[in-house]
Amino acid sequence: MARDEYGSEIGGDDEMNCVRCGHESGYNRAVIDRFSGAKIGHLCMNCEREEFGNVLEYSTRGDDECVLCERDGQIELPRFVPVERQVGETVVVESEIEDGTAPRLCDEHFHAITEAERLRPVLDR
Ligand SMILES: [Zn+2]
Ligand SMILES: [Zn+2]
Repeated sequence: MARDEYGSEIGGDDEMNCVRCGHESGYNRAVIDRFSGAKIGHLCMNCEREEFGNVLEYSTRGDDECVLCERDGQIELPRFVPVERQVGETVVVESEIEDGTAPRLCDEHFHAITEAERLRPVLDR
């Protein structure tokens, strides 16, 4: 029984992969379905840069819209931030989902990034 001894909801025992490249990546952002609250996976730093550049970093507008269009944001992309915790004599660093307003994507734009792998252009001439 692997249990996170701190009872943290995002303990190190979840092995979610990047929703775009599918690799188990260093945490960058969580991908969360706002309606069910379910965590869908992660978005790694490389994929964020490739898909969005700096858009997500500057997109905390505090409203419910997708960062790329005007539709309702269904998917939330909060950042993971390292948090230092004092545990007995030692300080441990854990990742936590950042508080505050996270950038959002509508379902269409979310699918656009998760399906990017097979939509990648194949040059044939
Ligand atoms: Zn990735
Ligand atoms: Zn959108």
